Amino acid sequence: MSEPLLQVEHLKKYYPLGKRWFTKSQQQVVKAVDDISFSVLQGETFGLVGESGCGKSTAGRSLLRLIEPTSGKVRFDGQDITLLSPEALRQKRKDMQIVFQDPFSSLDPRHTVQRILEEPLIVHGVGNAKERQGIISRLIDVVGLTHSHLQRYPHQFSGGQRQRIGIARALSLQPKLIVADEPVSALDVSIQSQVINLLQDLQEEFGLTYIFIAHDLSVVKHICDRIAVMYLGRIVEIADKNKLYATPQHPYTKALLSAVPEPDPDIKPQRIILQGEVPSPANAPVGCAFHTRCPWVMDICRSMRPELMQTEPGHLTACHLFSGPDAGEKAI
Ligand code: ADP
Ligand code: MG
Repeated sequence: MSEPLLQVEHLKKYYPLGKRWFTKSQQQVVKAVDDISFSVLQGETFGLVGESGCGKSTAGRSLLRLIEPTSGKVRFDGQDITLLSPEALRQKRKDMQIVFQDPFSSLDPRHTVQRILEEPLIVHGVGNAKERQGIISRLIDVVGLTHSHLQRYPHQFSGGQRQRIGIARALSLQPKLIVADEPVSALDVSIQSQVINLLQDLQEEFGLTYIFIAHDLSVVKHICDRIAVMYLGRIVEIADKNKLYATPQHPYTKALLSAVPEPDPDIKPQRIILQGEVPSPANAPVGCAFHTRCPWVMDICRSMRPELMQTEPGHLTACHLFSGPDAGEKAI
């Protein structure tokens, strides 16, 4: 691990709502991703975690420019990809791939595995037919499928096998970065660890960098080096995995962690049950977006939004309990 491969700065993705009924100044927007910044080191697995609807997929897709960000910078491998022309971006795509959550809808049901794997190679003009066949054979091997699978269609596979095909497709152009968007959420628990192990083996073999998206903290525990926790379009905490699990700071992270099953029956962590629903990102609370559900809410939280700040080396938290002169005393 060394230089950041990816630097995301002030990334925003807003979706306009109800265009016809509002004048420009009144127009409502869904702030799906609302000013997030982080960097990912070469060879690292960076987790992006938060409840459904908090903006994880939108973040993953906008940083790859699969959807256009509203604003912000994404520096990847030395280039700001938000400034690239469509053709330059197409070239860069080889280096940045995505594995989708639903392995069924993400594979074209009309195409054989052979065609699914060959298509990106053809689009990017990789090799002749024989060379492409060599690449496809290797891909099918490394994801643990067999050559007899190549002539089959996606519906003939189990969920776990389909996700292996999705991973093979993402690998076909030898990317540097893979955004894995909840790659095991749709799979049976018994299959999840197989796919996670496969991703880890591939990372080692090909020197990959991952952004691993998940909706809870149990899945990312084994695979991630650092983890960012998102709430309502913003990052509320970033820390090294071990720090985040041992000494979480943000009340939301604590609540998420208290929901992770504890394998040791003698340890009974205090379960924090969050009150209320997640507010809509079209109408996020003023001040700290989490204040409506926070068990430790203070007056300041209702009016002033806490910035993501370093609380100790390598640990960033956006919470008033950790900012200000007497933060240490207030810290929970
Ligand atoms: P997650 O992946 O964390 O579940 P998403 O990134 O899919 O969350 O969505 C974040 C928020 O943005 C949600 O409130 C969702 O409804 C909204 N959203 C996502 N895509 C669109 C879109 N194309 N138009 C409007 N709102 C959207
Ligand atoms: Mg999602």
